[in-house]
Amino acid sequence: MAPSHTSAPSGAVLTDAGSGSAPSGARGTAHSAPTGPRPTRDAPFVLTGAKVVLPTGTADNAQVVIDGTKITEHAPEAAEFIDLPGHWVLPGFVDLHNHGGGGASFTSGTVEDVLRGIHTHRLHGTTTLVASTVTGDLDGLAQRAGLLSELAEQGDLAGIHFEGPFISPCRKGAHSEELLRDPDPADVRKLVDAARGRAAMVTLATELPGGIDSVRLLAEHGVIAAIGHTDATYEQTREAIDAGATVATHLFNAMPPLGHRDPGPIAALLEDDRITVELINDGTHLHPAALQLAFRHAGAERVAFITDAMDAAGFGDGRYMLGPLEVEVADGVARLVDGGSIAGSTLTLDRALHRAVTIDRIPIESAVTALSANPARLLGLYDRVGSLEPGKDADLVVLDAEFVLKGVMRKGEWVVDPR
Ligand SMILES: [Zn+2]
Repeated sequence: MAPSHTSAPSGAVLTDAGSGSAPSGARGTAHSAPTGPRPTRDAPFVLTGAKVVLPTGTADNAQVVIDGTKITEHAPEAAEFIDLPGHWVLPGFVDLHNHGGGGASFTSGTVEDVLRGIHTHRLHGTTTLVASTVTGDLDGLAQRAGLLSELAEQGDLAGIHFEGPFISPCRKGAHSEELLRDPDPADVRKLVDAARGRAAMVTLATELPGGIDSVRLLAEHGVIAAIGHTDATYEQTREAIDAGATVATHLFNAMPPLGHRDPGPIAALLEDDRITVELINDGTHLHPAALQLAFRHAGAERVAFITDAMDAAGFGDGRYMLGPLEVEVADGVARLVDGGSIAGSTLTLDRALHRAVTIDRIPIESAVTALSANPARLLGLYDRVGSLEPGKDADLVVLDAEFVLKGVMRKGEWVVDPR
């Protein structure tokens, strides 16, 4: 049975609608072919029948009303009803750390490439995305920031994340060693300025000369200072947090391991309430037990699931370039051709969520906090995105009962139509 198109009753939304609040005839399944016109921004519509993950918890059979680009409180006259029994509706995902997808690199691609990468991740539920660069020479990165900042200005990106060049050669991962440099605050400032107010985050090895001053500079400019690709001790990491660092770039990866006499950055980052820890939940970057350790210790409120995706995400195996370095992707795992370091992921956030809920047994509400609310808060965007509340952008994800993605809406338009 196809979704029906009926007039809306007036009534509150984003609350448990209870049985019988949807008009008769508004029953349908999510997968049958549509028989009526697709909703447009001109046609307000109401999602009914699904479990909806709200900031206050999951509401069974809640209604979500969308009018134009926004979630609204009351269904207008002549709204269209889309019934989604057995499904979940969640806020759209927010990815803080993402280098590309769909065969396109945010570090080196054309504008069209970058847009294709963004679209690829939207198809997987990421409705807000920060573009990450990899290490390059400073002038090249500054130029890149100019291009990406234009995409941020037109609303396609939520900002720019510079990962490198201010990182440790001891923990360089998939970054070119010859292009690494100490975090001289003047150089950090150069990149922030080149981003024209769109720099969202800079990953730094804060133990390097200039590191602490650079953290202070970033904090003063409202840019997230992220500790990562670091060889810092426990004490050095604490100093960086005191100076204003607020994020751990992919906790565990590209930093010294947790030692019982030498706890290193991991203990300092996990124990401090001022830090949100990024986790790459692809089954390759982290053992499930390490993920559990971090999630339980930090709590859902201090975790951000990220992809750290590279070009092959949503595209396929093969040879790629990550900045100037060659990468081989086999069975969805990206490794440097030279040396075999893991070189980003091919993860999409819908898969991160699926793993979190089905394998890691993380409650879906906690997973949503880590996928949407926390990164939105970090970016200062929680008044617009990151949860399903009236007044916010109509950015949402529809999953089936097995937590497989079936629909994506961004600013009131279906990117993936669930019907
Ligand atoms: Zn990265």
